[in-house]
Amino acid sequence: MDSDEFRRQGHAIVEWIARYFEGVEQYPVKSRVRPGEILNSLPELPPSGSESFDNFLKDFDEVIMPGITHWQSPNFFAYFPANSSPPSVLAEMLTSALGAQCMLWETSPAAAELEERMMEWLRSMTGLPEEFEGVIQDSASSATLAALITAREKVTGFNSNMEGLSDAGRLRVYVSTQTHSSVEKGAGVAGFGRSNLVRVDVRDDFSMDPAALERAIEKDLASGYIPCCTVATIGTTGTTAVDPLRAIGEICSRHGIWLHVDAALGGTALLLPEMRWMSDGIGYADSFVFNPHKWMFTNFDCSAYFVRDAASLIRTFEILPEYLKTRTRGKVNDYRDWGIPLGRRFRALKLWAVIRSYGVEGLQATIREHLRLAKMLAGLIEAEKDFELMAPVPLNTVCFRYRSDGMSDSETDRLNEKINHALNDSGKIYLTHTKVNGKYVLRMVTAQTNVTEHHVTEAWNLIRECASATSSQDRPVDIY
Ligand SMILES: *Cc1c(COP(=O)(O)O)cnc(C)c1O
Repeated sequence: MDSDEFRRQGHAIVEWIARYFEGVEQYPVKSRVRPGEILNSLPELPPSGSESFDNFLKDFDEVIMPGITHWQSPNFFAYFPANSSPPSVLAEMLTSALGAQCMLWETSPAAAELEERMMEWLRSMTGLPEEFEGVIQDSASSATLAALITAREKVTGFNSNMEGLSDAGRLRVYVSTQTHSSVEKGAGVAGFGRSNLVRVDVRDDFSMDPAALERAIEKDLASGYIPCCTVATIGTTGTTAVDPLRAIGEICSRHGIWLHVDAALGGTALLLPEMRWMSDGIGYADSFVFNPHKWMFTNFDCSAYFVRDAASLIRTFEILPEYLKTRTRGKVNDYRDWGIPLGRRFRALKLWAVIRSYGVEGLQATIREHLRLAKMLAGLIEAEKDFELMAPVPLNTVCFRYRSDGMSDSETDRLNEKINHALNDSGKIYLTHTKVNGKYVLRMVTAQTNVTEHHVTEAWNLIRECASATSSQDRPVDIY
């Protein structure tokens, strides 16, 4: 592709993206294709000769787009926000054009230094302790794995990377029953063994019970285990519960246990001073992660990982073959030493674009509105006698279900599942479910970049209509 062709196609693609953003509500939110449908429409073998880019774009529209679920639709209320935004997209185009590998300071000094400054900006925007230093990771899963491995190194006197874990004793990791599955995955990968993940009970609001944590640690100590790491969550995946950091931190500090805070989804709310109650006790934390690629309008991937003691992180991950030796080593940040992969994308650029384009106040206003919408929806649900709220709503996610007098729990589960599928099949909105105390629950997240009150009230009207239609169809079937 020559420069003229690049320019022509590039303009066309920017035009395509602008139209996509403007018209995203026209698509069914959840893709309707069946398994194998896209695969079967793709050629089995690659072309031997060159094809026109116009053909590529035509197939993108005709073959690929039907198989896309529209996370950028304001009617996307499923899983969690994976927000993009125009400034983020434009900066990402520049990153891909530069194609720089940002593993060492020398392989692109601006990338390393912009990353350092952006992490300082995020630290102050979220009110994290001054001594924290940050690095951008690809995902919260990777950041949490880095935390687990660093905690493991620390408790084994920085010996386990070299000697393996055969003499390390049985190291334990404490989480709540609501903790994200990435911690269990990480505990397996980091060599703790998934069976050494201890799931601590939660309180009525689904936050970790510190007394139960203390009991679990005492019991382990009495049985000869070695407590190593606790993961507390700000905004659990199911119900966005907030674990009590101060009480947990006090226990961890007394027992010399690494405290990692997983705020992948909820951390963005710390931009709001009125939400900083969630990080009360953050001074006890050894590490903290949140994902600007979820709720902060920065397209995937961009996960902000902070540590209190960067030296321990670097000591865990640095490895220095001859070909990576530089004259600037020790004077600058070589971020390859701050995590698992060597190669790293220039991800700080889109963060810079997003923060400058919105401004801190613009980000705060949008996040505040998302929180207001969740509260508003919770109010609408509470006012409706056929619906019930199934968990508190501290953040952007509302868990609820339809119920009918005299209907058993299993019938209610089945009915809510039907309602969920019917809503998603309509293409008008997309929401997903979870289980709360064993009950099937609908889960609606009001945090998409462009969601407004109008989208939430329209969705709520649709849910009510769909619920009453589905339940009246359901009755005769139940009688059989
Ligand atoms: C989304 C999420 C994760 C996983 O994030 P990735 O960046 O996709 O790895 C982990 N923990 C919590 C609480 C989350 O919400």
